[in-house]
Amino acid sequence: MTSELLKTKCCVVGGGPAGMMLGYLLARAGVDVTVIEKHKDFFRDFRGDTVHPSTLELLYELGLLDEFLKLPHQQLTSVGGVVGDFAFQAANFRHVPAHCKFVALMPQWDFLNFLSERAKTFPSFQLRMQHEATGLTYEQGRVSGVEVQTTEGGAQIRADLVIGCDGRHSTTRRAAQLEVLEFGVPIDVLWFRIGRSTGDPEQLLGNINYGKALILINRGDYFQAGLIVPKGSFEEIRRKGLDAFRTGILQNAPFLDGRVQALDDWEQIKLLSVQINRLRQWSRPGLLCIGDAAHAMSPAGGVGINLAIQDAVATANLLARPLREGRVTEALLGHVQHRREFPTRVTQAIQANAHKGFEQVFRNPGPLKAPWQLKVAVRVPGVQRLVARVVGVGVRPEHIQGARRRPGLNTCCAKAVAACAGIAAAVAVFSASCRRARLN
Ligand SMILES: Cc1cc2nc3c(=O)[nH]c(=O)nc-3n(C[C@H](O)[C@H](O)[C@H](O)COP(=O)(O)OP(=O)(O)OC[C@H]3O[C@@H](n4cnc5c(N)ncnc54)[C@H](O)[C@@H]3O)c2cc1C
Repeated sequence: MTSELLKTKCCVVGGGPAGMMLGYLLARAGVDVTVIEKHKDFFRDFRGDTVHPSTLELLYELGLLDEFLKLPHQQLTSVGGVVGDFAFQAANFRHVPAHCKFVALMPQWDFLNFLSERAKTFPSFQLRMQHEATGLTYEQGRVSGVEVQTTEGGAQIRADLVIGCDGRHSTTRRAAQLEVLEFGVPIDVLWFRIGRSTGDPEQLLGNINYGKALILINRGDYFQAGLIVPKGSFEEIRRKGLDAFRTGILQNAPFLDGRVQALDDWEQIKLLSVQINRLRQWSRPGLLCIGDAAHAMSPAGGVGINLAIQDAVATANLLARPLREGRVTEALLGHVQHRREFPTRVTQAIQANAHKGFEQVFRNPGPLKAPWQLKVAVRVPGVQRLVARVVGVGVRPEHIQGARRRPGLNTCCAKAVAACAGIAAAVAVFSASCRRARLN
């Protein structure tokens, strides 16, 4: 039974990267905002630890960067790959047009705790943990608030605007019956940890061979490892047993011998069922969805967190003032989608192309020979910078309204679009050459 009635201007559902950044920005702009999060803390399983140069740039614009970088993190300055026996550097972040020329690798809970601590310094900010949205309330056909389950029982939060930042399994978008466009994905990812030792690669490494792609992210004393496998194949992999799983990893990365043996329980291996989807319409009167709730991203490129944060910035830029003045219209909610749908579409298209490359890899369980096109492409001057720019800055980077900006960053968007087209073409060539190699 509903026992408590709370009121706020804006209720943000979900305290992930999109929700916490949005909560911070709205409170900073003087909007009365309540963020609700269903968990009791931010400490959860690995959900991506990448804070890209574009997000670090936002922290710079907010005057938070120096403090943020005092938190323990690793700095990723390049991304390497090994296809068959051909090793190459795929991206070099040293030239991205941002203050930080690296990706900061930091546990997501540290990032979220950092944002929430800063947000709490604003009087108009409230964070309510262990508050799970279970449905929406309506008045005259318009969303007027959220039904919430707490440890004390039910509650209702009335709000001028509800913003769903509740991730890929969003309750808000389901409750509002927003139509989801699903795009088939041929891959899943198995995440696990493997100990590191001296002499191991320092930077992020993708090992593609024997029908598998193994990503190794340096996290200090361990690798966060992601094994890219065909969609729906996890059960079959489990049936073959842990011995076969460990042998498969060693095929791709023999230097891990002596450490993969620590993987002795399937509990250590988490399945990420990869999805790419987006809402046809991101809003209803009184409700807007952003981040994964509006568009689930593939982990390809590790850009989901950063896209979610960019959505939050655009939303705050467009809606903070109207929210303060009580004049949020449907058209304004539509503007948020209009601004953010383009970068979402372009990024998802690049990811879908990368998936095609993985499909080709899956079809060849034997030793892989790197196609000559790849060998040529990675040596073309500027390619590594281009890849780094697309991954690190992305398409249409957002900026904090009214904040001091780094000169020259505005040109990034056009360059990023050109870069995206280049990368999409390179991935297509790579897929085609893998296909040809297989046919021969
Ligand atoms: C295993 C895994 C690995 C990933 N790796 C990367 C990576 O390396 N780099 C990268 O950029 N992205 C990665 N991603 C994707 C990334 O996590 C998401 O794109 C990003 O977190 C989206 O942010 P968000 O705030 O929109 O949603 P989420 O991060 O999903 O946050 C949603 C929040 O809402 C809360 N919530 C959900 N339902 C409710 C409810 N009903 N009521 C209240 N609260 C609710 C959740 O507890 C959560 O805190 C990964 C995802 C997974 C699952």
